[in-house]
Amino acid sequence: MKSLWSHDDAAAMIARYAAQGVNEDIALRVYTSRLLGGDARLVLHGGGNTSVKTRLADFLGDEGEVLCVKGSGWDLGDIEPAGLPAVRLAPLRRLRDRESLSDEDMVNFQRANLLDTTSPNPSVETLLHAFLPHKFVDHTHSTAILSLTDQPDGEAVCADVFGARMGSVPYIMPGFDLARKSAEAFARDESVEGLILHKHGIFTFGATAQESYERMIEMVSLAEARLQQGRKTGFAAARLPREIAPLSDVAPILRGACSMADGDDYKRMVLDFRTGDAIRTYVDGADASRYSQTGVVTPDHNIRTKNVPLLVPAPAAGRLDDFKVAVKDAVDAYVADYHAYFARNNARLGDVKTELDPLPRVALVPGLGLFGMGKSAGEAAVAADIAENTVATITDAEAIGTFDCIPEDDMFDIEYWSLEQAKLGKGAEKPMARQVVAVTGGGGGIGAAIAAAFARDGAEVAVLDVDLDAAKAVADRVGGMAVACDVTSAESVKAAFVAIVARFGGVDVVASNAGAAWQGRIGDVDDAVLRKSFELNFFGHQNVAQAAVHVMRAQETGGALLFNTSKQAVNPGQDFGPYGLPKAATLFLVRQYAVDHGADGIRANAVNADRIRSGLLDDGMIAARSRARGVSEADYMAGNLLQREVTAQDVAEAFLYLAKANKTTAAVVTVDGGNIAAALR
Ligand code: ZN
Repeated sequence: MKSLWSHDDAAAMIARYAAQGVNEDIALRVYTSRLLGGDARLVLHGGGNTSVKTRLADFLGDEGEVLCVKGSGWDLGDIEPAGLPAVRLAPLRRLRDRESLSDEDMVNFQRANLLDTTSPNPSVETLLHAFLPHKFVDHTHSTAILSLTDQPDGEAVCADVFGARMGSVPYIMPGFDLARKSAEAFARDESVEGLILHKHGIFTFGATAQESYERMIEMVSLAEARLQQGRKTGFAAARLPREIAPLSDVAPILRGACSMADGDDYKRMVLDFRTGDAIRTYVDGADASRYSQTGVVTPDHNIRTKNVPLLVPAPAAGRLDDFKVAVKDAVDAYVADYHAYFARNNARLGDVKTELDPLPRVALVPGLGLFGMGKSAGEAAVAADIAENTVATITDAEAIGTFDCIPEDDMFDIEYWSLEQAKLGKGAEKPMARQVVAVTGGGGGIGAAIAAAFARDGAEVAVLDVDLDAAKAVADRVGGMAVACDVTSAESVKAAFVAIVARFGGVDVVASNAGAAWQGRIGDVDDAVLRKSFELNFFGHQNVAQAAVHVMRAQETGGALLFNTSKQAVNPGQDFGPYGLPKAATLFLVRQYAVDHGADGIRANAVNADRIRSGLLDDGMIAARSRARGVSEADYMAGNLLQREVTAQDVAEAFLYLAKANKTTAAVVTVDGGNIAAALR
């Protein structure tokens, strides 16, 4: 590992923050924190912390010594001075003389000594930083260090590698006790350049930001060099089926099995798939059921990944039914084990904890790769990042010895520690959280409004459009994925659903919205025009619905098919036969899906919208029609019973409503301000 320290960059950082009134110590603390946080081999998702001891003035202008230490909720990779709350140092240091200190008292005392009470909570490792005398202190969960400490004889391995340069601290849960033990380890030999926290991570320290940072890089480099010595050849591979089922078939089965029934609906997971040579060697290993099921490589990972991943059998191509049974059995066993683990450890603590959900957050699939899982794509990505990091750490640990980690009771104490759970943030889930929504025609006005409405309510959104640039523009705006898709081509639709499943693991809601209007008097319209319209306005919906149902049935967690059928399906407009006829067929398609797939829990509903600006009605058409009727554009647009203009947003809200209406199928919702000729009866 190379030092990325640059005098020029450091000077630029000092100058930049000086302009904001931030002192040099804090500017340099930001600089090297970001260097550490930018490397996933050192720091992942809030996993490390750093501090600097400096002098700051309080509100009255009185200057005093403070510890600026990483605040919870910040990541080192993009930390700012505001992410390094200042705590008065002298009171923190006086805590060292105490025999014990509860977590609640520790957190409260730290907050009570903040210079600014609007700051985030200082790190749970604040006291460890405070009890060390050095100006700069850096802490990471380096994978190379963990590969050495996570061994049955990790202390001996580290003593051999670092000699007297690093102090040694046995595993203790973070908090007051760890801070005291670390200070004692330092006091035994004050010449050490850092501390190895066994089965947890590494601290380095120094008089300057550069010294502390470069000691971290040097110690990690020594660990990396040790990992290259006397390596065993990689994991022996298990016997796998000759042909493995594709990701697009495997992911929905896994996703469905990892969902929990929740009333008439399901609590689902969003998946994030990862693969590559290192992951495949790991998940395909004959001994994976041992080394992958031992536990976490550093304790705080388990709040995001649980202690162990779900391990399922390899999915043989053409035998998906067997795979589905095997996955369900594996998930049942995982959940039963989790309940037993909770009961055992909660009893030890006097039955004071409330059980968290028992579902896995990482799944290993031999022959394919690994999946992170979470209630959002973001959470799934965090779990997948940690899982990849775990693969690297355990692979190296096993190459030089045997992976070992903290025992179960210590893992439980971290997983159920209130200060760790606080990192996850609470707050009610949004109504469409955990659901994957595909919107066709998503690049256009109504499609974009639908995509935005679902994203606002917490769904993961795939924006499908024949125009990929249009889809991308909307996807960027709503934080979704863009997929090129010509709905008139069954192949193109299949490929789009393969891409959605590869990205999110499955699909729950389809807003089949793509359409276009063709005109012509039915008595003399060209056959080709009618057929073209049927391809888009009928077969397009059928292609999309069929592909979605294939995924939904594999998941076995129901789903919602939503169709934009337009008022033309009910109330034909003059010369609009080529548009209205396929839309009428699509209205019947909705009912057919409701009939044929109700037993699968799949609902099929339609939205009949009319006269929407930015829908099929462009500005030129609005101008021409209002002129032809001799009314203003505004009066034309509001030409309905309620005399209100209907917007794309109104249509989007109807789609959203139908997605949530889990006792409604074969329904048509009109969004037209009242058009009695288009009213259904
Ligand atoms: Zn730590």
